[in-house]
Amino acid sequence: MEFTASELWSEVLESARTAMPEQSFRTWFSHSTAVGLSEGELIVEAPSAFHAEWAEDKYGPLLKGILEQILGRPLALTFRCPSVPGERELPWVEVTPTDPSPASPHPPSPGRTAPPAPVEDSTNLNERYTFGRFVVGNNNQLASAAGHAVAEQPARIYNPLFLYGGVGLGKTHLMHAIGHSVLEQAPTTRVAYVTCEYFMNELVNAIQKGTTRDFRTRFRKIDLLLVDDVHFLAQKESTQEEFFHTFNALYDARKQIVLTSDRPPKELPGVEDRLVSRFEWGLVVDIKPPDYETRVAILQKKASDDDLVIDPEIIDFVARSCTASVRELEGAVIKLLAYSSLRNQDITLELARTALQSMLRPGSGNSRPLLTPEAIRNMVARSWGVEPGALVSKRRTQDVTVPRQVGMYLIKELLDESLVRIGRHFGGRDHSTVIHSIRKVEKAMNDDEKFALRVAELRDRLSSEE
Ligand code: ADP
Ligand code: MG
Repeated sequence: MEFTASELWSEVLESARTAMPEQSFRTWFSHSTAVGLSEGELIVEAPSAFHAEWAEDKYGPLLKGILEQILGRPLALTFRCPSVPGERELPWVEVTPTDPSPASPHPPSPGRTAPPAPVEDSTNLNERYTFGRFVVGNNNQLASAAGHAVAEQPARIYNPLFLYGGVGLGKTHLMHAIGHSVLEQAPTTRVAYVTCEYFMNELVNAIQKGTTRDFRTRFRKIDLLLVDDVHFLAQKESTQEEFFHTFNALYDARKQIVLTSDRPPKELPGVEDRLVSRFEWGLVVDIKPPDYETRVAILQKKASDDDLVIDPEIIDFVARSCTASVRELEGAVIKLLAYSSLRNQDITLELARTALQSMLRPGSGNSRPLLTPEAIRNMVARSWGVEPGALVSKRRTQDVTVPRQVGMYLIKELLDESLVRIGRHFGGRDHSTVIHSIRKVEKAMNDDEKFALRVAELRDRLSSEE
């Protein structure tokens, strides 16, 4: 059967629609158009680069599978966007209009407010946590774009917005930034930022005092509810029950909800399915640890925000030393400043080394060398019994491709270098090869316990001893 590009694409979409939540489908595909079909490839135009990347990344395999089913043979699928530079976030999905939000007599009150304050009187937002101070990098680009989108059109695009990631990676910051931005555009919006624990404690209080009705009214009057660290809901049944009703009430009234957690909804242990599924209604997006470039950018930003001048050489040193989180980076800067003022010395590389010694490798001796990509590459090669040079070579036999992929994977895991840089450590391979390799290792670790163990042991050895 002969298809035109658009016939084929609508066939694909029809199947795809049943395989994902309706909201996701509308978000990512309702504005996509097939623009080309050849023997080997179907080309689809997405409304923005952001859509194209996301569709390809998250749904590429699904869509290609469907294509293959329809055609009886594989066909490449390429997403591209109209080439308007800089237009990464727009346009979004079509939306049904929300009720105009009822005016509130409460002006916004930014700034750090002592907890716990009455929910509807205080926004509890930290004034430093704005979009302006949030550095966007590969690790948080989607989260940040989604945050902006939500702030611009609350309750219209992604509801709820669920941000997850490890400690100190900027979830709370981003969440506050959404709050600030909404208030800037509509100062009468009732914004409430609460930690999950605060919600829980207030509920317990209300139950004890017999004021649960007031509790409900308070929370259900909010226009933008920001709930931080929802992983604390685990095992708390009555809190979950109440939260579920709050969620539904706000959602049905078309109010925006933003949630953060240390893991994705599906992996939240001891959280009821009905809540998990609600958490997934909107957009679930992760924040990863910052890569080297982002760490440098964050350090530069912190320095310039605080009117500090720090040598590029020292920024580079700190960015290489502190890899785990943004909070760790901030800690390092604070430590540097403390050292330099205590000793009344300028910040030099020497001073930085001394100041950060304990951070580099907790509990380690003084002169432990930093883990380098070369060290990882060499150790992996040794473990697989091949020449280190073979991993950099063009050879594609399995005896070298497997350790090469493992090397890439471990450099990403342990040093969190960017894909482009990792490619350079392996003879200039391009970033798509690197991502493909890392995924292969992840998959193999999932499928093959022995392989997983082998990689994990290497990883432990690399990160503990040298
Ligand atoms: P989380 O909630 O994920 O544990 P936070 O939002 O509390 O992390 O961030 C930890 C610290 O790092 C905060 O001081 C925050 O301002 C800062 N931070 C995190 N991400 C960024 C970023 N992308 N740009 C600038 N500062 C950041
Ligand atoms: Mg937090």
